[in-house]
Amino acid sequence: MKYKKDSERYLKMYPELLKWINECPLCHSKGYKTEMPDHVGGEHSIAAYNLKKYFKQLEVDENGFCLQCSKVYNQNR
Ligand SMILES: [Zn+2]
Repeated sequence: MKYKKDSERYLKMYPELLKWINECPLCHSKGYKTEMPDHVGGEHSIAAYNLKKYFKQLEVDENGFCLQCSKVYNQNR
């Protein structure tokens, strides 16, 4: 899983980008937030481009769970 390692390293290098990342507390899948604008960071930053390259979009519910876990969670309630 070289790809995943690269994405983790990228976030370590730019921890300020974590605010655009959702992480599901149940399955620990990570992805960029649906509300992330096309451009984040400084004027010449390609952060948004890189985040989209390294991560998939991850939609989360009001609990911060990804939609897949949200479904399971709500079914078991
Ligand atoms: Zn999940």
